[in-house]
Amino acid sequence: MMSGIAENLKHIEQRIAEAAREAGRDPADVHLVVVSKTFPAGTVREAISAGAAILGESRIQEAKAKIAEIGPAAANVSWHLIGHLQSNKAKTAVEMFDLIHSVDSLHLAEEINRQAAKAGKVQRLLIEVNVAGEESKFGINPDELLELIKALAPLKNIVVEGLMTIPPYADDPEVSRPYFRRLAALAVEVDTLGIAGIRMKELSMGMSGDFEVAVQEGATLVRVGTAIFGAR
Ligand SMILES: *Cc1c(COP(=O)(O)O)cnc(C)c1O
Repeated sequence: MMSGIAENLKHIEQRIAEAAREAGRDPADVHLVVVSKTFPAGTVREAISAGAAILGESRIQEAKAKIAEIGPAAANVSWHLIGHLQSNKAKTAVEMFDLIHSVDSLHLAEEINRQAAKAGKVQRLLIEVNVAGEESKFGINPDELLELIKALAPLKNIVVEGLMTIPPYADDPEVSRPYFRRLAALAVEVDTLGIAGIRMKELSMGMSGDFEVAVQEGATLVRVGTAIFGAR
């Protein structure tokens, strides 16, 4: 018998594929980031056994302890950092994560670049954009995005692969649509500049409540926690 987590995972993957097909997109172009923050190692191991390939964590200390506790199975998946990162934790983030979704300043990106150089790694990252301009949210202002990306392009140990956003919380997924659309438009704007080494391959957008709308608007990475693991 399938566990609740395995069933939920399968169901979410089906809904993602269906949303992609309905939007005329190839379901293979959309990847599910299984958001395991706050859930214990045993639960995450269950998700990995059920086929979770990308795990998303918000906090460095929690992720570090959990990955250690999960043991060898943790090496079978790709770990993504989706939460805010402080520069003084950039070194640990570079050690643990294949993709950092939440870069929102030149200072942080430079520190990641420095730590990645020391580790002999090219760190993949996304720029978090505060599309709604909410005071309480992390993320760069859309007006500052192009300048930031131009400044990051020459850095040798990071590669900016796309954009991420968290729209304002709403019960109705349609409320998120204009924000997702805006993020997709910003990515097109960046690509239009034709900056050497910069191509917006990834759009990280959509959570449990609105991932289907995000897929319709071009998401390549959707970050889903609650719909797989239950309430935190
Ligand atoms: C917690 C979190 C998610 C997952 O949200 P759910 O509503 O539980 O699916 C996605 N993205 C970020 C940045 C998060 O912090």
